[in-house]
Amino acid sequence: MNRKPLTAAIIFIFTLWLGGSTSTLAQQYLQDSDNGVRLVDVTSLDSTFVLDIRYATTNNFTEKQMYDCGKCYLREPVAELLIQAQEDFREMGYRIKLFDCYRPRPIQYKLWEVVPDARYVARPWVGSVHNRGGAVDLTLVDENGNELEMGTDYDFFGEESHQDFTDLPENVLENRALLKKVMQKHSFSPIRTEWWHFDYNQNKLYPLSDLVWDCN
Ligand SMILES: [Zn+2]
Repeated sequence: MNRKPLTAAIIFIFTLWLGGSTSTLAQQYLQDSDNGVRLVDVTSLDSTFVLDIRYATTNNFTEKQMYDCGKCYLREPVAELLIQAQEDFREMGYRIKLFDCYRPRPIQYKLWEVVPDARYVARPWVGSVHNRGGAVDLTLVDENGNELEMGTDYDFFGEESHQDFTDLPENVLENRALLKKVMQKHSFSPIRTEWWHFDYNQNKLYPLSDLVWDCN
């Protein structure tokens, strides 16, 4: 019996396996060449997050699709903290729904082309905390997947979205307060104008990044 075809088949299958595992790793992590802290796909570490990455759809304020597909990458320590927040919310019967996470700078330029207005979009040459992989846009959903009342939709640009706007129903104020309290406990800071946006406290540790994730 000639063993060569069998050997060739084993090598072929092994190569396929290696190739497959390499591409899986490449999708789980994005590695900056100039920084040791990887960007990790949060859902690869914890599958209980709900994803509604709006810039991967036309359901966002630009009405244009900005990402080829919706993914939530964050710097690894930021992802770990978000997972701790998710554990706290799960104990209360809620889960985090993610609207946006790391935003590659090429996409920031695309956004700026559509909306060149610094009130709504960070100047891409300055960059935003999203471009560092240190910010998340999120809300909470209940056990049935229904969003908790937060008073406005995501990316509603008006004073009703502000953290200090209090002319809202009591349950809305309570939901916003709960979101803020748990996020702050895990080292995230709110910003004044957007109830859905939180920055990791130490985000300046991370550079702006141009890496774009693979959709394959
Ligand atoms: Zn944001």
